[in-house]
Amino acid sequence: MFVKDLLAGKTAIVTGGTRGIGLAVVETFLESGAKVALFGSRQETVDKALAALKEKNADYPVIGLCPDLADYGAVSAAIDAVKAEFGKIDILVNNAGISARDSFYNYDPAAFDKIMDLNVKAIFNTSRAAAPYMKEQGGGVIINTSSMVSLYGQPAGVGYPTSKFAVNGMTKSLARELGRDNIRVNAVAPGVTRTDMVAALPDEMVARISAGIPLGRVGEPEEVANCFLFLASDLASYVTGEVLSVDGASLV
Ligand code: NAD
Repeated sequence: MFVKDLLAGKTAIVTGGTRGIGLAVVETFLESGAKVALFGSRQETVDKALAALKEKNADYPVIGLCPDLADYGAVSAAIDAVKAEFGKIDILVNNAGISARDSFYNYDPAAFDKIMDLNVKAIFNTSRAAAPYMKEQGGGVIINTSSMVSLYGQPAGVGYPTSKFAVNGMTKSLARELGRDNIRVNAVAPGVTRTDMVAALPDEMVARISAGIPLGRVGEPEEVANCFLFLASDLASYVTGEVLSVDGASLV
């Protein structure tokens, strides 16, 4: 089987698909033959991502929506719309996420809620809305974006690592509950990856970060996206409940 055809005939939803790791996953899935619905936070960024993709290939079967992921009713309506457009939902990638590095003594309780709403509750919402369709059609795949901080924690910004530990917990629990319906649930845990945020850092800082990573460099979004591709495809047909680290063996 060619990588080009790995997802032929499949349909996918990717939240946080407008830039960074999510956009790389969208492109990788499209290049592998899937139809993709990307979800973003605003119509403007969704339109920008769609335009960039269409510029690369006008025939890409991609649509974009921007439901409030913390609102179950909005998420459910968006997933119904994707089902109506594509006819089925084979793959759900829960990638949208935010972080903050405030110290604990200054941590705003509202900021904690905001992180948990997007990084955790949104995954519950999208999975809750999509899983019945997957069950009905005989199976599906859910892949969540975790982080290397879900393994070690981090010394500031407690909401973010806490949310990613929860992502791993939901991944493993749903894998056990939904396995009988042939729905596989896994997570990808990236290390420092060259998205806009990392690209904006001074070269010396990226060099310092890279020096602490055994592979000697930060990861590229495409390298992370390839792991989503593997887990989404039938090559991973007996893999569920896993958290796959893609971090160059980093301990930073
Ligand atoms: P990014 O900031 O470049 O992109 C985030 C995406 O999430 C965007 O598409 C944005 O539209 C979406 N998003 C943000 N707020 C949203 C909201 N309220 N509603 C809907 N969508 C929203 O981020 P990234 O670096 O590509 O990160 C993607 C995922 O990878 C996140 O879950 C992040 O925690 C995780 N991650 C990133 C890194 C890294 O180094 N970049 C490392 C580990 C884990």
